[in-house]
Amino acid sequence: MKHNDSYAKLVNEFMVKLEDTIDKVAPDNTSALENLREMREMANKLSFRADFIDVYNLNYFFKSIDEKIASGEIEKYAACRFDMKRFSVVNHQFGREDGTKILKKFIEGLQKGLKEDGCVCRIQGDTFTVLFLKKRMSYVVKYLSGTMIELGLKDKKKAMLTTYAGYYEITGKKTAEEIMDRIGMAWNMAKHVKRVPYVFFDEKLMQSVENEKWVESVFDEALRNEEFMVYYQPKVTLKNYRLNGAEALCRWKHNGEMILPYRFIPVLEQSNMICELDFYVLEHVCRDLKRWSEEGKALVKVSVNLSRVHLGDMDLVEHVLEIVDKYKVPHEYIELELTETTTDVDFRELKQIVIAFRTQGFSVAVDDFGVGYSSLNLIREMPWKVLKIDKSFLPEGDEDTEDNSQKKVMLKHIIGMAQNLGLECIAEGVETVDQVTILKENNCYNAQGYLFDKPLPVEEFEERLERLA
Ligand code: C2E
Ligand code: MG
Ligand code: MG
Repeated sequence: MKHNDSYAKLVNEFMVKLEDTIDKVAPDNTSALENLREMREMANKLSFRADFIDVYNLNYFFKSIDEKIASGEIEKYAACRFDMKRFSVVNHQFGREDGTKILKKFIEGLQKGLKEDGCVCRIQGDTFTVLFLKKRMSYVVKYLSGTMIELGLKDKKKAMLTTYAGYYEITGKKTAEEIMDRIGMAWNMAKHVKRVPYVFFDEKLMQSVENEKWVESVFDEALRNEEFMVYYQPKVTLKNYRLNGAEALCRWKHNGEMILPYRFIPVLEQSNMICELDFYVLEHVCRDLKRWSEEGKALVKVSVNLSRVHLGDMDLVEHVLEIVDKYKVPHEYIELELTETTTDVDFRELKQIVIAFRTQGFSVAVDDFGVGYSSLNLIREMPWKVLKIDKSFLPEGDEDTEDNSQKKVMLKHIIGMAQNLGLECIAEGVETVDQVTILKENNCYNAQGYLFDKPLPVEEFEERLERLA
């Protein structure tokens, strides 16, 4: 968002002229003075306050920053950009009129806690900026992370309001635009990337935003140039440690540098670009499976990760079928790994997709089970074939720490539950012999992890396949 220079300048010129006029009016001309002062009040409201709910607007935010810069006090301040989390639910629950009242009370409460030296300004809709003294940081973070607002003293209606916020503790010489950019980046990170209540701006965040811009700008060409490669991480059975499957994991080789998924997958997941990559990976896997079959190699089931972004794609199943059938790969050799989801809407869409994949004879696995928003309904209501237990449930080391004993209890029950529901279980991220022992003790005989193999380039994985024959 750019500082609206021309508008702010015009407003400033108008205010200076008005002050000039007031100065020139004879002191005994009280009625003219009164009128002019009233006009000043109205002009102030018009220029620095947003309509709708009575708060300052963005011009006021920029003006306040400019003033603090001019007085040399800016480094005592922090800034924040926030928007309301699921405010539409409040509107839906209380109606628009009361929803607005609740929002107004929320903003007034925040403003009150900032005292005179801070301001809350509205950008648009339910998006606001705040300038406040750094010493009030803990108050602001707590307030914006969740505050219960009652509609009125008599009215019993109340709502818990929460936000996504990006903070920046101002240091050095920064312009109003630079401050605005930084809180914007932190807010975007909180709302769209990490989905957490707040993020503080720091240099690392700056780098990650630069990385993001870079990935977005070169992705299309990189995909066309086939810079993405499929690595295969073996899955083994713990009964005899033989290979019994693999997970396809993506690697990006750019100008001789190997780039790992954590640098590009989260960026691509912010748009539909991830879908293009997933289909690309699936196509490469199918091409490899076809070739291996033609070469007479033993085949194993290969799993491919499908990002959650696909859930919005009505044609996902058709698209997968089109690719797999193009290479005439029998469906039982393909497994689709999907992660858990966060909302009810996702839940319904996910269920339809899982059912459709299973009907077509594909295996479907719930990936990273246990992290994020696991719900038992997710397991009960969908016809998964495989449950992949996240590595965070595997005990670390052989010490009997409280953490390890809790993990063991949970691991035991997750495996038990999955098996009772007729699901296959696989543990991912297996790194030690002790972990293998625990898995076997709990009847989980499928594993994937560095103890057996890292994700391997295709030629190395083919050697593993040859050993199987
Ligand atoms: P994931 O699907 O849970 O994949 C497993 C990750 O754990 C892989 O990281 C793998 O290298 C790593 N791993 C395997 N064994 C061990 C172990 O013993 N210890 C530890 N610490 N890690 C282990 P990788 O390849 O960096 O991939 C990270 C994530 O990126 C994947 O997590 C997956 O969510 C995503 N990803 C990778 N390729 C694709 C893709 O083609 N499409 C999509 N949508 N996501 C992908
Ligand atoms: Mg996976
Ligand atoms: Mg996983």
